[in-house]
Amino acid sequence: MGDTGYQRWICEACGFVYDEAKGDPDSGLAPGTRYADIPADWECPLCGMRKSDLRLLRDTPAPARSVTRSPSRRAPVTCRGGDDHVVIIGAGIAGWSVAEQLRLRMPERDILLITACSGDYYTKPALSTALTNGLGPEDLVVESAASKAAGLGIAVRTRTRVIDVDRAKRRIATSKGSITYGKLVLALGGQQRDLAIQGDAADQIIKINDLRTYRRLRQRLDEGATRVSILGGGLIGCEFAEDLSSVGVHVDIIEPARQPLANLLVEGLSQGLRVRLAEKGVRWHLGKTLDRLEQGGDCVRATLSCGQTLETDVIISAAGLQPHTTLAKKIGLQVTQGVCTDHDMRTADPDIFAVGDCAAVDGRIYHHVDAIRLQAKAVAGAIAGTAAPFDMTAPLVRVKTPSFPLAVCLPAGSDCAEHPSADGLRVDYLRDGELVGFMLADEHAAKAASLYGRITERRWPDAS
Ligand SMILES: Cc1cc2nc3c(=O)[nH]c(=O)nc-3n(C[C@H](O)[C@H](O)[C@H](O)COP(=O)(O)OP(=O)(O)OC[C@H]3O[C@@H](n4cnc5c(N)ncnc54)[C@H](O)[C@@H]3O)c2cc1C
Repeated sequence: MGDTGYQRWICEACGFVYDEAKGDPDSGLAPGTRYADIPADWECPLCGMRKSDLRLLRDTPAPARSVTRSPSRRAPVTCRGGDDHVVIIGAGIAGWSVAEQLRLRMPERDILLITACSGDYYTKPALSTALTNGLGPEDLVVESAASKAAGLGIAVRTRTRVIDVDRAKRRIATSKGSITYGKLVLALGGQQRDLAIQGDAADQIIKINDLRTYRRLRQRLDEGATRVSILGGGLIGCEFAEDLSSVGVHVDIIEPARQPLANLLVEGLSQGLRVRLAEKGVRWHLGKTLDRLEQGGDCVRATLSCGQTLETDVIISAAGLQPHTTLAKKIGLQVTQGVCTDHDMRTADPDIFAVGDCAAVDGRIYHHVDAIRLQAKAVAGAIAGTAAPFDMTAPLVRVKTPSFPLAVCLPAGSDCAEHPSADGLRVDYLRDGELVGFMLADEHAAKAASLYGRITERRWPDAS
């Protein structure tokens, strides 16, 4: 906090930083507007979330939290679960959201959250915009695991890896002993997929999908790295490319497709993004893959499929997420793209749920915070007996590339007409004359929240 006492807040869904000193003039919030004075219907300019989705950044003391649970029922420090426990595995947005939603519906239910990581609550979407926002890895931690668990009145076991589950006995084997459960929630996330790359430096690729791996990138930059090569020109790769370029890092993107975000964008918008990032200094290697990585003195030498070599300091992989399904397969749950669930997020085992980046509903994985929050509500509703089935046919996808912001809502089905705008920066999808989807770039992207609201006829999920 500065002399003026201004605070900074971060949007949990997209990593947008609201700095009270700067306000949000585009939305009518003058510089100096305190969080308390932001109207409740304000929308995050990046993702359309609400004021209640902003969390205080840690350079200021956290406000007191209200605990909805009776204070007499404290969670034991080393909880071993029990037949009546809901046990959640995973401390990403999915795991913590399930804990929050359960606590809202069941103030007295015993809840235990187990995670292999530190469990600290951070905004993952902010990883790819942190440099632009002047944030270090530690700034992204909104709350420690212990503090968040205490606030919710739940038990937490961090640095504890789940190895196996005996479904008949409802017992979990972990790296620190066994735990029993009544209901089990798998919120295991995923990791950047493995690539077949040869050479003595292949193990130096940083696969970024969490705060721990992101710290490795920042450490390399702190040590003086100035050249970063990114494997994958998809959403995450493009966001990191722009963020790194914004602080003067030389970026190369190696992408097997002939255009960036080939699976998401029509060609015109894809080319628009390519050109804007190139103007920021990003060098594209489209239609190519990385074959070999070799140590070359003070650099790493990358050999591409076309034979070209690049010298770089750091290689990061953003080549696509692979859900963590090994555990689910091992214990006999059905797995396709992810762990299969119904719309209550329930697996074929009635006592086991899956949610977030590891879960596939009707064969589809939703890698979006707003979808994951709806899934968490569905899990909590199913366990509490107040069903709230997950339903999101057309998610809103944002690409956080400030030089060419994009917002995409692809309609389900292929029976709609495509209407490109005259400036080539917007495509509307119409069915029977009704707007059912869109692709918006540049200035048009600011209209995404209101158009999406019209399409889905639902409000954005709030944090309550
Ligand atoms: C750089 C980046 C930018 C993004 N930007 C956006 C955005 O702008 N908007 C948006 O909506 N989405 C965005 N996303 C996607 C979104 O952040 C993810 O979909 C979401 O965070 C996934 O949360 P999760 O809880 O399912 O998984 P994770 O965050 O991966 O959490 C998985 C948890 O499971 C634990 N775990 C795994 N295996 C075990 C085990 N065996 N035992 C114990 N614990 C285990 C892990 O330790 C971890 O705590 C972005 C993602 C990235 C990487």
